[in-house]
Amino acid sequence: MTAGRLTVVQLRYNFRVYPSPGQRISLAKAFGCARVVFNDALRVREDARAAGLPFVTSGELSKWLTVVKRTPERVWLGEVSSVVLQQSLRDLDTAYRNFFGGLKGKRPMMGAPRFKSRRDSRQAVRFTANAGWRITDGGKLRLPKIGDVRVKWSRQLPSVPSTVTVVKDAAGRYFASFVVETDPAADLGRMPETDTVVGIDLGLTHFAVLSDGRKIDSPRFLRRAEKKLKRAQRAMSRKAKESKNRDKARIKVARAHGRVADARRGFHHRLSTELIRDSQAVAVEDLAVKGLARTRMAKSVHDAGWSAFVAMLEYKAARYGRAFLRIGRFEPTSQVCSNCGVKDGPKPLHVREWACGACGAVLDRDVNAAVNVAKAAGLAVSACGAQVRPERVPAQRGEAGTHSKGRRPTAAQAGISVP
Ligand SMILES: [Zn+2]
Repeated sequence: MTAGRLTVVQLRYNFRVYPSPGQRISLAKAFGCARVVFNDALRVREDARAAGLPFVTSGELSKWLTVVKRTPERVWLGEVSSVVLQQSLRDLDTAYRNFFGGLKGKRPMMGAPRFKSRRDSRQAVRFTANAGWRITDGGKLRLPKIGDVRVKWSRQLPSVPSTVTVVKDAAGRYFASFVVETDPAADLGRMPETDTVVGIDLGLTHFAVLSDGRKIDSPRFLRRAEKKLKRAQRAMSRKAKESKNRDKARIKVARAHGRVADARRGFHHRLSTELIRDSQAVAVEDLAVKGLARTRMAKSVHDAGWSAFVAMLEYKAARYGRAFLRIGRFEPTSQVCSNCGVKDGPKPLHVREWACGACGAVLDRDVNAAVNVAKAAGLAVSACGAQVRPERVPAQRGEAGTHSKGRRPTAAQAGISVP
């Protein structure tokens, strides 16, 4: 099998930070100023649109910001780093680009940019290299006009980051999120070549079923965290609206939510790394093709976080020179025998296992689908070689996550079972 080219991948590394009470006030100011600039600029563009004027360009917005900062109503914008305010304008540009891209059909449909609120669950400010932020010799994060913030470094950064985003989440926790680029030369030795192709069926009975017959469920600690979250949500709904108890319950829900997200991300990371390490080509059935998006199962698809998992597989494949394929399903994989290739008609969903009428092979519904995906991938790879998209892969929002130093589950705990 041909080896793909290793690619520079942007990764996001998140670390918990602990600002002092004074730094929290400065950060609140920065969040507020970033939000005001975003909303003001959105208003400028929307007013222009309502008046039938041309789209206000980013350059014009930058000039507008310089002028606005000198007005008495907005003079307090000078109390925060100007880079933070400029980055807020960049965020607005990104929101518009995503919106227009959706309209043109170049990316998934997105709503028009919306005004931000102080009640938004996630608040963030971004510092680029020219903001003059740095990591001090003492391991603190030095932020302009905020100070030296204590960081819990839970793992090593693979290279020097150029940008840091400081985030406050719904549970009131602060994070520093760095974007770093991987080093293909260092990655080269990390994952030796193999000649395995793995097909993955993202099923509903299991998180994933592999073409080698393994069925992978979400790990127990994740299921436990999910149960706790549901309990916290039920408890919150019982509390009177606008009450102190409801506020307390809301924070509990936000914390439980954070733990579920962390646990899920950790599970996705371990599984995707294992699959990429063991296989030269990884194929998944295209979820859109799977036709689940508009069904009653959509929520469960969303909960399982498959799209986040598939995105991880994709960037890790690019990083380590593996082939990644989305297989479009032209005919339902359950109709074709993965052993002899005979198509013997549709089977209702409750049929989990059957014997092929032609060759007699006993087929498990999910494994059969995964093997068919792997076969299609094998054909695609031999037809065109293991091509990996050569361009730079941007960091996923909320990627990488904080890895706690605590328990690292074993494969069994991570839900990986061998039949
Ligand atoms: Zn057969």
